[in-house]
Amino acid sequence: MAKAEETVLEIDLKALGHNYNVLRSKIKPETKFMAVVKAYAYGSDSVAIAKHLQELGTDYFAVAYVNEGITLREGGITAPILVLHPQKVHFTSLIEHRLEPSIYSQSILTDFIATANAMNIVDYPVHLKFNTGLNRLGFSADELPMIASLVEQQKAIKIVAVLSHLAATEDHDERAFTNLQLQRFKNICQQVDQLYKDKPLKHVLNTSGIINYPEAQYNMVRSGIGLYGYGNEPEVDTTLQPVMTLKTIIAQKHIISEGESVGYNRKYTSNSKRITATLPIGHADGIGREYGHGKTFVSVNGQLAPIIGNVCMDMIMIDVTSIACDEGDEVIIFGKPLPANEFAETAQTISYELLTGLSQRIKRIIV
Ligand code: PLP
Repeated sequence: MAKAEETVLEIDLKALGHNYNVLRSKIKPETKFMAVVKAYAYGSDSVAIAKHLQELGTDYFAVAYVNEGITLREGGITAPILVLHPQKVHFTSLIEHRLEPSIYSQSILTDFIATANAMNIVDYPVHLKFNTGLNRLGFSADELPMIASLVEQQKAIKIVAVLSHLAATEDHDERAFTNLQLQRFKNICQQVDQLYKDKPLKHVLNTSGIINYPEAQYNMVRSGIGLYGYGNEPEVDTTLQPVMTLKTIIAQKHIISEGESVGYNRKYTSNSKRITATLPIGHADGIGREYGHGKTFVSVNGQLAPIIGNVCMDMIMIDVTSIACDEGDEVIIFGKPLPANEFAETAQTISYELLTGLSQRIKRIIV
């Protein structure tokens, strides 16, 4: 792998393929796999990731918004794409790009039927989303008769799938609640199956769900974070490989005498002579101020160096007093060998937030 010459996010497609195979091995061969590639494929590069996954046989993709689905279509993704949070204003272009909406309320349902009717569409595939306890988006189970009657009166849409989302699949002490959500989902699925002779697909599990509740895989699962190399399961964490590695270089070194401060607001003061290095990455890149103040470490020539003082917009300073390094040397912020979830934990957050918060000004390199 070439040494970094600037701040880059390396995207390792081999690691992605490995993770895909690990996750697939946890489900039945006939279970469909939906890859969640919203938010730039968790901060990486949605088209590059989805293209590779499509070549590996991924059945379905999921994004949050219509524009993300359009990006995938324009990038050559031909597999079905679910839009988890379609907005009415984009229904026409959703249909034009053959994206499948997740429909979660009566008003979305009636408006979508109206749009599809106006475009003379027949049997347009839609997924019905039910709220089973996350209390975020979704129909309630007692809206089923209303849904059935609206769907019966028209020909524009066809229910191809039923889904729900679980609140706490990674929390072992929330097993009873997850089982309750799964029971509610099962009841909904049974009622839906009685309505339609072409039984819709069912999908409810995310990455941790695949690991902890494989019995609820139905005929499709939706995985995001696991594909990128992270899960909340110790067992998965060691078998998955980080897809993204954030690297930068040392821009300048400084010798700081005892009592001198570093950075804005003088939040770091040396208690002895120190050597610091300045790195061209900052909170504008997604490494926020919560990562400063000595709690978070980066890797310089194989050794850990703390981020000191306040993180600046475009720069951070690290202490390299005991590390042999020069200006221009590569620095690994996280990835291989510093897992993003551990880096994120130093700022009391999770890999999802760290990865999806990486700014678009960081160059993405496919390796
Ligand atoms: N399904 C839905 C509705 C989601 O919002 C997400 C992620 O946020 C996923 C599936 C994928 O979850 P995970 O990344 O934990 O696999």
